Amino acid sequence: MKKQDKERYKKKLLDRKNEIIDKLNEAYTESIEVEPNFAQDVGDKAETSYTKEFLLSLSDSERKQLFMIDEALKKIGDCTYGICQMCNKPISIKRLNAIPWALYCIQCQEQAERESL
Ligand SMILES: [Zn+2]
Repeated sequence: MKKQDKERYKKKLLDRKNEIIDKLNEAYTESIEVEPNFAQDVGDKAETSYTKEFLLSLSDSERKQLFMIDEALKKIGDCTYGICQMCNKPISIKRLNAIPWALYCIQCQEQAERESL
């Protein structure tokens, strides 16, 4: 994958990650009055690790997505981004454009979904 493509996906991943974190911060600002700085705090910590409270406040799909985004960002760092974790074949560009945090190619994803049913 070209460097400029990687940068583009990285940006998409970070944008989505920030969206999830922002949404969480909003929820905190609305519900927590005793610790006004807490939301900001969570945002900072989320850069490296997630607190239990942070993770609990996310829905299952957001939590899953956040971990996939982090995983994908790691892959961009070690140059394995866009490679399926199961079969090691490249994930289609079309799929990455739709789901930048996809860790599996469409075939493996479908197989995994079938097996989990
Ligand atoms: Zn695959």
